[in-house]
Amino acid sequence: MAKIAFFSTQTYDKNFFENKSDKHHFEFFETRLKKNTVQLAEGYDGVCVFVNDKLNADILKKLSEMNIGLVALRCAGFNNVDLKAAEENNIRVMRVPAYSPEAVAEHAMALILTLARKTHKSYNRVRDGNFSLERLTGFNIFGKTIGVVGTGKIGQAFIRVAKGFGTEVLAYDKYPSEEMKKNGVKYMELNEVLAKSDILSLHCPLTPETHHIINKKTLEKMKKGAMLINTSRGKLVDTSAVIESLKEDHLGSLGIDVYEQEEKLFFRDLSEVIIRDDQIARLMLFPNVLITAHQGFFTKESLEEITRITLKNFDDYENKRESENEVSCKLLKDC
Ligand code: NAD
Repeated sequence: MAKIAFFSTQTYDKNFFENKSDKHHFEFFETRLKKNTVQLAEGYDGVCVFVNDKLNADILKKLSEMNIGLVALRCAGFNNVDLKAAEENNIRVMRVPAYSPEAVAEHAMALILTLARKTHKSYNRVRDGNFSLERLTGFNIFGKTIGVVGTGKIGQAFIRVAKGFGTEVLAYDKYPSEEMKKNGVKYMELNEVLAKSDILSLHCPLTPETHHIINKKTLEKMKKGAMLINTSRGKLVDTSAVIESLKEDHLGSLGIDVYEQEEKLFFRDLSEVIIRDDQIARLMLFPNVLITAHQGFFTKESLEEITRITLKNFDDYENKRESENEVSCKLLKDC
């Protein structure tokens, strides 16, 4: 029976995993896995973590000293794990590569529609007895050009949604998809996508290459008044540059489900706490910025799939089986 310590546990994680397996023993910790909490993993065979747990070389070394051989991610992205250090410390890293790409894709479209039609504002107005339409003018999505950066599972699901709205889709990806090309997606260089898109949606992973892919220079290349949507990873976007562009009236609107410094904020109730992050505080003040707290994945269907695949990952680890969900330097050939 594998003993697994869960970190960053929320009520829904506990509800979904508890009593789902008689083959494993689970302990749920609310805290993140970090330098001063890693000791909690003592006596377990594996740790099960989420997007903002930091698995750097120091933490992985400590886990290995405690004979822990598995890091199971309850998510697809693995940019928070030092894969080289995991390999050096003989720790297997498994993830949930795809649970519901549609969940994130549909959330990206929800951000677009909300910003385009200002439904968040009308909802509040009507609740306050204000039925005026002043300053609620929106714009149609139909006929617009949407740029997609990263056309993997989520990017492709998003393109299917975007096409349904009658948009033209332009894309940039290091490895273009033949299927998407057949479906009428036009691949081009990033600069061209930036220059031609009315709405730009980011769906590539965070890597050294994509860190701050949206920065002062790339923002300047975007159309004046364009909308930027990021449901991928916060560090794809240079937040200071985005704030400047919004202040200069160049970027038209911004919808983010992820934020550069989200580790200090997201997945917690800070409503009674002073927010010390001046950048998010500034973003929250713009009337044309919409922020959600990393909820793109958060549907019933996704949580069921995350649970099913993570339990399979535990089984494969315990039975020393190969796993298609394993990520390692060897398999990725680039770390
Ligand atoms: P995927 O691996 O299926 O697709 C990623 C795509 O990005 C691939 O087509 C790849 O070729 C492309 N790519 C890689 N490097 C690139 C580069 N330098 N420039 C342009 N394109 C590049 O991944 P996915 O399942 O579609 O997920 C995409 C990202 O979405 C994840 O990495 C994760 O960060 C994010 N995500 C967010 C949430 C959320 O709740 N908001 C949930 C799941 C995933």
